[in-house]
Amino acid sequence: MKTLAVALLLGLTPGAPGVGDSYYPQLGNGGYDVGHYDIDLAYAGGKINGTTTITATARHGLSRFDLDFLGLTISSLKVNGTAAAYRRDGQELIITPAEGLPEGATFTVEVAYAGRPAPVQDQSLGKSGWLPTNDGAVTVSEPRGSMTWFPVNDHPTDKATFSYRIKVPEGLRVMANGEPHGDRWIVTEPLAPYLAFIAIGKWKVKSGRTPGGITNIVAIDPALKDSVDTLFSRVGAATDWGVKNFGPYPFTSTGAVVDNLITGYALETQNRPFFSSNQNDLPTIVHELSHQWFGDSVSVRDWKHIWLNEGFATYAEWLWSEQHGGRTAQSRFDELSSAPATWQGWKVTTGDPGLRRMFDGAGIYMRGALALHAIRMAVGDQTFFRLLPAWTAEHRYGNATTADLRALAERLSGKDLGRVFDQWLFTPRKPRA
Ligand SMILES: [Zn+2]
Repeated sequence: MKTLAVALLLGLTPGAPGVGDSYYPQLGNGGYDVGHYDIDLAYAGGKINGTTTITATARHGLSRFDLDFLGLTISSLKVNGTAAAYRRDGQELIITPAEGLPEGATFTVEVAYAGRPAPVQDQSLGKSGWLPTNDGAVTVSEPRGSMTWFPVNDHPTDKATFSYRIKVPEGLRVMANGEPHGDRWIVTEPLAPYLAFIAIGKWKVKSGRTPGGITNIVAIDPALKDSVDTLFSRVGAATDWGVKNFGPYPFTSTGAVVDNLITGYALETQNRPFFSSNQNDLPTIVHELSHQWFGDSVSVRDWKHIWLNEGFATYAEWLWSEQHGGRTAQSRFDELSSAPATWQGWKVTTGDPGLRRMFDGAGIYMRGALALHAIRMAVGDQTFFRLLPAWTAEHRYGNATTADLRALAERLSGKDLGRVFDQWLFTPRKPRA
């Protein structure tokens, strides 16, 4: 009674257990914004042990709030330095602080935990999160793997800065987002939690700058034959090329990590994309680095807009080829768009594909790129190549939707693009010519 009376007096209510994402309603949590994650872990023998400290701001008065966290054993949980009550229900870590948190208050959550992290299995993408490797581990977490290794507000709409201090046994080394400073890796630009990345193992590392002057840090597992010099120069070329086409590079550094692991995918982990041992060819490097603008800096507002990430990154591969004496985007468009009505890509509603089709190669990647080329044809090259940097500038470090893209393309071109967007993105059949 007393608690309730005090809570009502202060206008305190529980934070929602999810942000209401169309495909993952439980992802993320309501009632607060995270500003920073400080992740301080010791790794040995496949296990981790340490503390994640979150600094957040209450968006409304909070009697309790949730984090997303799966597996691992919590030994202590404090809010503003005082032990807090908590319980766990699936991926929800439900925290009741000793004192309610008034609207606008900045607060800290300190969670000490330990255990052997395990990946999550997603129907759309396979295993994600903490993946053990021959000599350590790597984290690749789209869309919901981060909760397998730290407590998190796991939705792209709550970006935060990060610092990692990961202690590893002698002979191993840590790569991560951001740049190394002393015993930490520091990320100073907003990072969507699914892009949080550490890679523990043995590494051949090369650091320096791209020809355009951007800090470039790449690493390859020494068990692989690939050249670290080749990787470094390809990353540099792809990053500088992106600047020319998409606008200023959004982050303090670029790079790559190629690990001795076959995951079936590469991932655009911020600053330092992850590449599987059999998937680090030049087009894939161009794809993942283009995601630094499309996906990492300009992120989806809801996972249903995933084509905004994958369509742009695939189209970047086409543009790279076109601008380096290879096949033109037009030629790819002509070939792909002549596919028969039975083609898988025509059956997907690219702008809202449903959970199972989120990473559909034909329906999201290919048709997303086709849609961008259709927009390019509708607005003309001059406007299209103004649209790319305008898009990354307008939504830098933010979250965007397909409607935002249409609004910008219409503003720049002065044209009604309703038919193009409807036919290419919201109609699950082959567009009519
Ligand atoms: Zn991609």
